[in-house]
Amino acid sequence: MASNKFKRMLNRELSHLSEMSRSGNQVSEYISSTFLDKQNEVEIPSPTLKDKPMSQISGVRKLSHSSSLSSTSMPRFGVNTDHEDELAKELEELNKWSFNIFQVAEFSNNRPLSCIMYTIFQERELLKTFRIPADTFVTYVMTLEDHYHGNVAYHNSLHAADVTQSTHVLLSTPALDAVFTDLEILAALFAAAIHDVDHPGVSNQFLINTNSELALMYNDESVLENHHLAVGFKLLHQDNCDIFQNLTKRQRQSLRKLVIDIVLATDMSKHMTLLADLKTMVETKKVTSSGVLLLDHYNERIQVLRNMVHCADLSNPTKTLPLYRQWTERIMEEFFRQGDKERERGMEISAMCDKHTASVEKSQVGFIDYIVHPLWETWADLVHPDAQELLDTLEENREWYLTTMPQSPSPPPDRHLQHDRFQFEITLEDLEHNNHNHEIEEEVEEGCQKEPLKFD
Ligand SMILES: [Zn+2]
Repeated sequence: MASNKFKRMLNRELSHLSEMSRSGNQVSEYISSTFLDKQNEVEIPSPTLKDKPMSQISGVRKLSHSSSLSSTSMPRFGVNTDHEDELAKELEELNKWSFNIFQVAEFSNNRPLSCIMYTIFQERELLKTFRIPADTFVTYVMTLEDHYHGNVAYHNSLHAADVTQSTHVLLSTPALDAVFTDLEILAALFAAAIHDVDHPGVSNQFLINTNSELALMYNDESVLENHHLAVGFKLLHQDNCDIFQNLTKRQRQSLRKLVIDIVLATDMSKHMTLLADLKTMVETKKVTSSGVLLLDHYNERIQVLRNMVHCADLSNPTKTLPLYRQWTERIMEEFFRQGDKERERGMEISAMCDKHTASVEKSQVGFIDYIVHPLWETWADLVHPDAQELLDTLEENREWYLTTMPQSPSPPPDRHLQHDRFQFEITLEDLEHNNHNHEIEEEVEEGCQKEPLKFD
């Protein structure tokens, strides 16, 4: 299968990162530990079992919104607010990539997810199509939003709202016009909305290393993603929360299968496999005379959907710079809090999580070069030319972070930075060497000889 070719190519590129990370480069260590699905060589931590029943999904709390809602008194955007006019103005941009979800949070009483879900489902007439009672829908999305943690800096309901709105825009890209069924659209939006619910603000690896109950529950495999799914589905059972009550049994089954597939694919350690498959799809893509993608088989459609939500999940660097910078601040704050926890527990501090040594700008440039740009470039190929503007923004943003990088301090020379620079030079030579010698010419056409990171 052709995707093996891409897997080999991507793995080769990433193996350099692993080498670099072994020699102490924090950016590459972060990338290879987050985006590569490898068996980690961790020490076996001492067990800290608590005797709690395992049959319950932890994190599901009983909260009731039904008393405050009825189908007759539904607010215009599903949320109670004193800023309805301002909110209306922001929501006019709902179908655009430049949409400002931060403003929506401000004008919706900090209910960005409830508000965006309600507005998107109205816009797409999904409540009508699937006969979802409006009060049930709002009760569910508010309950869902309440199960995101307000005190987690990045993975809170604002991120979920952002990924949902981004997915909504990607679903409307001209190249995918009328490709997906209503049920598939419903699944993609629902998956985006639940995809990080009850996120504790620490990584899968942290949960595994600390022998957490969640890691135990899911046997260390996509721990958080499995949990997000379990919580997202479990909440449907709360009072007046079953938004899928009027779907047929078959529809419910298909929807569940789609949603599980999409949310499990948001595990960043699956990134390389997803990207390899997407590249294969681009290579063999068929379009109609009007330029719309032909996706005949279920497998092709679900593959595009899982990549779409994965792209939306990795879309921060493709947004306008003021938005992107706010997301970066939030993710770094979350990483640093995890680093603080690791320091307190005497654990090794994860890459990019040490507030004393991490370089924010460097990490963003590395993240774009190795993960975000390769992914979006491939997506842009798939839906060509729909995503060109977004790709341009990404490249401008990379330039901004590159030029904003603190210059290597002259006095005193920073040994760590010099070390990094040396490592990246070596990599450039390695890459060129590889490119000249590789047995299959076409493999090196793309991706490999991308201008490497320069940190000086
Ligand atoms: Zn996410």
